[in-house]
Amino acid sequence: MSVNAALLKQQVFIAGAWSDADSGETLDVVNPATGETLGSVPVCGRAETARAIEAANAALPAWKALTADARAALMHTLCDAIMEHHEDLAVLLTTEMGKPLAEAKGEIALGVKYIRFFAEEGKRIYGDTVPSPWADRRILVTKEPVGVVGSITPWNFPNSMIARKLGAALAAGCTMVLKPAELTPYSALIYGIMAEKAGLPSGVINILTGDAPAIGAEMCENPGLRKLTFTGSTRVGKLLASNAGKHMKKISMELGGNAPFIVFDDADLDRAVEGAIASKFRNSGQTCVCANRIYVQAGVYDTFAEKLKAAMSDQLKVGDGLEDGTTQGPLISEAALEKVATHVQDALSKGGTLLSGGKRSNGPGIFFEPTLITGATQNMQVANEETFGPLAALFSFDTEDEVIDLANDTEYGLACYFYTKDLGRTFRVMEQLEYGLVGVNEGVITTEVAPFGGFKDSGMGNEGSKYGLDDYLNVKYSCIGGL
Ligand code: ADP
Repeated sequence: MSVNAALLKQQVFIAGAWSDADSGETLDVVNPATGETLGSVPVCGRAETARAIEAANAALPAWKALTADARAALMHTLCDAIMEHHEDLAVLLTTEMGKPLAEAKGEIALGVKYIRFFAEEGKRIYGDTVPSPWADRRILVTKEPVGVVGSITPWNFPNSMIARKLGAALAAGCTMVLKPAELTPYSALIYGIMAEKAGLPSGVINILTGDAPAIGAEMCENPGLRKLTFTGSTRVGKLLASNAGKHMKKISMELGGNAPFIVFDDADLDRAVEGAIASKFRNSGQTCVCANRIYVQAGVYDTFAEKLKAAMSDQLKVGDGLEDGTTQGPLISEAALEKVATHVQDALSKGGTLLSGGKRSNGPGIFFEPTLITGATQNMQVANEETFGPLAALFSFDTEDEVIDLANDTEYGLACYFYTKDLGRTFRVMEQLEYGLVGVNEGVITTEVAPFGGFKDSGMGNEGSKYGLDDYLNVKYSCIGGL
């Protein structure tokens, strides 16, 4: 299986044309499973970003003047073009990012679902008529696109993170400037190829690669851009939010997490193990909603640990994502692997017990063995920071109140999970967990029809669902008098 060269665009897409960076500089893109260089992409900076914003502004009046129906038709054509190349796009995604091919195919299909969902939801951007306090006036509330949107996305879902921003923006009548992560630019640049195939007007989608701080600064400061949507680390999110705030841009921030995964004594343990495997090890643990702290009630602790160990050994297979049967691809970078290794060493030095894995796998790629540690405690790094890798750390607890306190004892508030069969406990715990996403007896809950957004340092705003569209709309009140 090899990458289809026609889909490996090595230029950026501005105003419907492909171009190099002004400086001519490029940046290599490497396959993390093999260490081989796939190609290179332009290193753009502020000037190219300003041009892309200008192009998006030029395209805006005509795009927002289209009916929702007409925009939806073009968005569906874009999705048809993507699905026509589903297999090739998945191979490309796996090659630049590492995730197993089946997960890559799933991600692309989910991206398309986001775009199709929003294409239809755009037809339901309703306003209000408000009963007027004046006999001779009427009150009308309408919604309008915010304008040009800048998007900065991470490498762990290089297709679908873009899709759920792009879908909402286009449906709302906004145009976009996209900046993907430097490690996975090709899965973003394909949106330019597909936009051309689908006949989207020039400038509606613009895609830049390169110097992230320079591109981010231009997006925050350029008066032609009205909203910034970001998915990535809390550190960078805060930097961007503060700069965007100075220039009064609207922002949506999907930032880091530190997800608790709680197993109560009364849980269906086999179901909880299945959920833990899916939640912890999907994408080799590299998602912002991955279980990071697995809290198990004392009565079932040993049994759960044994079952999880057996399931990991039966189900998880490390390898190149393009190889049949692989469930655990490489980590994205040496730095990512170093962080996992550091968390493992820290946990073991503070009294944790290693049940499986614990070290780098052999080979040229960046592979780490799926790792299980028991006896985890709150003073370990794994309790306080997102590991973003294949380390399952098991903590023991005694009571419901205790575990709620432990679970909430973090500055993050993105996803959490718990397993119980007790209805009263379900509601008590669901309501007390300070998280934007709650999985009850489920380990993977993302869907285009439900909102996705974090509390606390995990960000602000929502993506997906009808709520995801609001972030791209301004509310306008018109008072019609003299009747
Ligand atoms: P991760 O740790 O997942 O790589 P980052 O927050 O570093 O998360 O990266 C997410 C996205 O933010 C990437 O597209 C990256 O290029 C971009 N990015 C990183 N630093 C900055 C910055 N200073 N300004 C704007 N974007 C940035």
